[in-house]
Amino acid sequence: MFVDSHCHLDFPDLASREDEVLANMARNAVGCALCISVKLEDFPRVRSLAERHAHLWASVGVHPDNDGVEEPDVARLVALADHPKVVAIGETGLDYYWQKDAPEWQRERFRTHIRAARETGKPLIIHTRSAAEDTLRLMREERAGEAGGVMHCFTESWEVAQGALEQGFHISFSGIVTFRNAKELKEVARRVPLDRLLIETDSPYLAPVPHRGRTNEPAWVVHVAEEIARLRDEPLERIAQASTDNFFRLFRHAQRPA
Ligand SMILES: [Zn+2]
Ligand SMILES: [Zn+2]
Repeated sequence: MFVDSHCHLDFPDLASREDEVLANMARNAVGCALCISVKLEDFPRVRSLAERHAHLWASVGVHPDNDGVEEPDVARLVALADHPKVVAIGETGLDYYWQKDAPEWQRERFRTHIRAARETGKPLIIHTRSAAEDTLRLMREERAGEAGGVMHCFTESWEVAQGALEQGFHISFSGIVTFRNAKELKEVARRVPLDRLLIETDSPYLAPVPHRGRTNEPAWVVHVAEEIARLRDEPLERIAQASTDNFFRLFRHAQRPA
């Protein structure tokens, strides 16, 4: 069985084909998925997916790219996370690629999420782009390691991966690892300890080879696992097993299906 540790099934491209997307998951042995929140206004839709389907879970948080949306405080995140199917806080983090002026509100929002994660004991889903140094620094300052979590859709160097691993974090690979030009990332995928590795689609974005350019969906996380198995010269079953075990160990509030 495979688990998609990060997808956006509430986004219109996937929500409009919910039955088909879930059927495709089943056909590809993608047994479970974590649906990721990006703004509080849409959180009820994410939570509803998790409430309606035993094999889906939800996170709660506000993405660092989202400007002009409801700004969460710690108490609000803690209250929304108090739900049996909400197993993580995020996605949160820093993104200086889309917010080139590196605004202070992004760092404040990130700190808020880390504090909420520590208070709830639910792990963090961290997004970082063009902001690795500040991301690792804030994680240390706010003691993110006490909550644990994952650096999702990882695209950084091995040094950044080490910085996250040292704080007890997991590293999640998306379809980007299947792209021919992702040489440095493929090297990171070879080196991450097997017990810290997760797989994801970040669908509807970033469809892996051989579906590159199409609307991504959780069923295709299999291609991410296949590429990692190839890079590490390991059987696919071993990558499937390890990434699934890691998922349920990290997101311990998610009940593993029998
Ligand atoms: Zn992200
Ligand atoms: Zn995402």
